[in-house]
Amino acid sequence: MVKSGCKNAKLFFAEPLLGKVISSPFLCIPGNIFRKFEQIMFQDEYDIAVIGAGPAGLMAAIESHESSRKILILEKMHNPALKLRISGKGRCNITNDAELKDFISHFGKNGRFLKYAFSEFCNTDLLKYFKKLGVQFKLERGGRYFTQNDNAMNVAKALLDKARSLKILLSTNSEVMGITRPSKGKFTLTVNKKNPAGNRNTQRIQINTDKIVLATGGKSYPRTGSSGGGYKLSSQLGHTITPLSPSLVPVETRGDSAKRLQGLSLKHVKAEVWCKNKKVDERFGEMLFTDSGLSGPIILSLSKTIVNLINDKQKVVISIDLKPALDHKRVDQRLLREIDEHSKQGFKRLLGRLLPAKLVPLFAEKLNIPEEKRLNQITSEERKRLKLLLKDFQFEVTGYRSFDNAIVTCGGVCIKEIDPQTMESRLVKGLYFAGELIDIDADTGGFNLQAAFSTGWIAGRATRFSSQ
Ligand SMILES: Cc1cc2nc3c(=O)[nH]c(=O)nc-3n(C[C@H](O)[C@H](O)[C@H](O)COP(=O)(O)OP(=O)(O)OC[C@H]3O[C@@H](n4cnc5c(N)ncnc54)[C@H](O)[C@@H]3O)c2cc1C
Repeated sequence: MVKSGCKNAKLFFAEPLLGKVISSPFLCIPGNIFRKFEQIMFQDEYDIAVIGAGPAGLMAAIESHESSRKILILEKMHNPALKLRISGKGRCNITNDAELKDFISHFGKNGRFLKYAFSEFCNTDLLKYFKKLGVQFKLERGGRYFTQNDNAMNVAKALLDKARSLKILLSTNSEVMGITRPSKGKFTLTVNKKNPAGNRNTQRIQINTDKIVLATGGKSYPRTGSSGGGYKLSSQLGHTITPLSPSLVPVETRGDSAKRLQGLSLKHVKAEVWCKNKKVDERFGEMLFTDSGLSGPIILSLSKTIVNLINDKQKVVISIDLKPALDHKRVDQRLLREIDEHSKQGFKRLLGRLLPAKLVPLFAEKLNIPEEKRLNQITSEERKRLKLLLKDFQFEVTGYRSFDNAIVTCGGVCIKEIDPQTMESRLVKGLYFAGELIDIDADTGGFNLQAAFSTGWIAGRATRFSSQ
């Protein structure tokens, strides 16, 4: 029986409206392609309630499907899968072509928890899965798979179409506020159902269900809906939440150098993290200067290490090697050759041949060498300083950006309390977890979405095979 304060509560299934792109006031993405499709009454009881319509929740719902089952997805936002739709700058970097061992290593020490899930359903399986749903992907640099037509919307649409074809119900504007369960009975969910027209007239509804898949995401980019409420629900049910911090997050640096270089993207550079005169971590690839510091793929990947050190109150320096293919001796040889061949030119011209234009004035200033100084007047000491700056362009880290700007959340539901073969809680029978809510997070490169899909796949299937 529905213990609802409102028996006329409505359910909406959102259907993509093709061809119509309305810019959303909520997020800067080509946005609201979803419209109201059908209205039905909340039913008394469900076999499965999936909380959260992100990649993990949608996958879990689809994979939990059996014709006799009543499956309900509850999504707090007006539109489902918002984060998925902006992933990979709107192109969706869905997975990576790394081999299993390498794949797992991108998750750090908690990667072992995903070994079973990835051995059952990993990158090639995911690509085949979406091919069947009509979405194809292309391989790019760094083993990253992006949507063939550079449109993440298609991934969300394919999942929603599939769920709809299976008659899975999706109720948007429905935030789960609490979960209770008398021992061994059904779970009761307390849901705040907003009026789609706005926040007014919110109705409080109670729904009963045999099983739950919690797929509420992390705390990062809260404007997409994942604002950390799932941690509260998990701890209400007795689960431990490991400390949460933003990960894959831009870092802030001292001084105005980054700001002066804002917007400049560097390819094929190496960034090293230094603490207490020791190199702690390093990455090679692409980075970006922002108004307050550093970002871009290699910095985001290093950010987990940096955030931990900053939280430990350590002094952290990022050293950028602008010529990682050349050792110090080779850089010096190159400088000597340049000076010899263009001895009458000014220092600025030399810098222009070595660096992107935006870096030239800053380098001249940092080296305290006039831009117009002729190369045949450059001293060996000045040449040495230039060589060092090219190999060791330093930025002191002062902090990192908040969850608002983080790609993922580090920390979450403790993996020791989840069975990795089913994603079922070891504490509460019938409760399953999927996606970023779990204490797993990875480097950039498509690993995080693969983890969301793989854990969703495992959880969904496990709900079919468990006796409870
Ligand atoms: C800007 C950006 C770009 C990214 N790009 C990539 C990429 O290209 N490749 C990659 O691998 N990863 C990427 N990520 C990370 C990836 O998108 C996430 O790891 C992934 O979406 C997590 O999936 P999820 O289903 O666990 O959670 P989410 O996608 O966060 O979905 C959770 C859903 O649950 C809903 N919800 C939350 N609480 C409740 C509640 N109480 N009741 C009902 N519903 C609730 C939320 O509204 C949300 O819709 C990106 C992240 C960001 C922020």
